[in-house]
Amino acid sequence: MGKAALYTTAAVCAAATAGAVALVVIRRRKALAERRARAASVIEELEGIFSTPIERLRLIADEMVEEMHRGLTSDSSASCLKMILSYVDKLPTGDEKGWFYALDLGGTNFRVIRVLLGGRESRVAKQEYEEVSIPPHLMVGGSIELFDFIATALANFVATEGEEFHLPEGRQRELGFTFSFPVKQTSISSGTLIKWTKGFSIEDTVGKDVVAELTKALERQGLDMKVTALVNDTIGTLAGGRYEDQGVVAAVILGTGTNAAYVEHAHAIPKWDGLLPSSGEMVINMEWGNFRSKDLPITDYDRALDFESLNPGEQIYEKMISGMYLGEVVRRVLLRIAQEASLFGEVVPPRLEIPFILRTPHMSAMHHDSSPDLRIVAAKLKEVLGIANAPLQTRKMVMAICDIVAKRGARISAAGIYGILKKLGRHTVQTEKQKTVIAMDGGLYEHYSIFSECLVDTLRELLGEEAASSVVIKLANDGSGVGAALLAASHSQYLGFDES
Ligand code: ADP
Ligand code: MG
Repeated sequence: MGKAALYTTAAVCAAATAGAVALVVIRRRKALAERRARAASVIEELEGIFSTPIERLRLIADEMVEEMHRGLTSDSSASCLKMILSYVDKLPTGDEKGWFYALDLGGTNFRVIRVLLGGRESRVAKQEYEEVSIPPHLMVGGSIELFDFIATALANFVATEGEEFHLPEGRQRELGFTFSFPVKQTSISSGTLIKWTKGFSIEDTVGKDVVAELTKALERQGLDMKVTALVNDTIGTLAGGRYEDQGVVAAVILGTGTNAAYVEHAHAIPKWDGLLPSSGEMVINMEWGNFRSKDLPITDYDRALDFESLNPGEQIYEKMISGMYLGEVVRRVLLRIAQEASLFGEVVPPRLEIPFILRTPHMSAMHHDSSPDLRIVAAKLKEVLGIANAPLQTRKMVMAICDIVAKRGARISAAGIYGILKKLGRHTVQTEKQKTVIAMDGGLYEHYSIFSECLVDTLRELLGEEAASSVVIKLANDGSGVGAALLAASHSQYLGFDES
């Protein structure tokens, strides 16, 4: 072959290579454009099915009001809201005085609390508490073992009473018991356990009076203490909130689960057949996590989550709102897009298939990522789901999905609160400019600020600027423990006796 021929071949090769490179670049660009278009259309579709326009929220609120009415009638089985009478008809006023105990049991830890209430001047003058974690084997053992464990912890705590601890002559110590499991309340200080939840399973307690069980255990410890109030965390929060601010009319929990309680006029409770309380009021435990309505934007993701859950058909509202589930909804959405649109490449990341692997705090960390290249999203995808090197476009999409799921939860929560305000007639401009306060507690509301800001904005939108100016959501951080001690005081067996 001559020189000229050689040069020609080289030139042809170079041209062919350049052509191939150009082709690859074109293909890549095309693929990228396609991916972008696909991502945009997926997000658009999700925005559609998860959407919560304001008119829809108003319908949801109206149905909440309707269900509240229905749940308050004698045939409350006709409603998805149990609207449980708490028998709390005396909320703390601020005048409470003396030493009181509380026990807060609602998860794997419990707290024992001792407070000194000093009336209007000194308020909660002293507060001591201890937190104890429950050994896992006691969560699935027998009733006696669990209650003995709790009573022992309480006895140990009582043994640390200081010099200043003092009860008037001949009086028993009194305890408010926050027991955050489903209970059929039979009086302010008694109630039978309907079922255990949150990983507890102690069958020999179901159907029994939990106060009687605790009292027997206290007696076995030789502890002279009277349980004067049995409540759940929502009612404890309401009581603690009311003590701090007399404008509190409702409490909402947004944590692992969700619930709400509010103060109802006794005459508006048809199923209340006892004496009208002198306050004319009664706290209602709504158990609102079980709310459902045809107007809730329930998607196929929610239906599948519910179907595969431990309690299918129950707690539908909670499954769209609360910290236990938000991350799981996001995981389900990501999984489907990974399967159908290769969001994370040709292979579906195996860890994405594991239920509940993506927790709400992970979701919230990604959602709050403000770095321009979404470094935290990348880190969480890697750490939690084993997905490395997700392109920026994909990370943006993950963030958009968190946004869609969180805001739906926050907006329908706001609709629920608006429903309560409507039921109370506090949704319009108040003539005497009284403040309406909602005591709020729970890790979701406290730590997921995009969620809580969206909730507050949506409630304002529902109320309108003017009415919204008299409604306040107040974070009542862990008020439920002190709240129970306050209820022990406001329902004390010694009420009416002289203070000494
Ligand atoms: P519980 O509801 O179990 O009594 P908390 O009120 O402390 O306990 O709420 C804990 C829940 O709050 C967690 O299960 C989680 O879902 C949610 N949570 C905690 N931290 C965050 C966070 N940083 N971002 C979003 N959600 C969070
Ligand atoms: Mg809690």
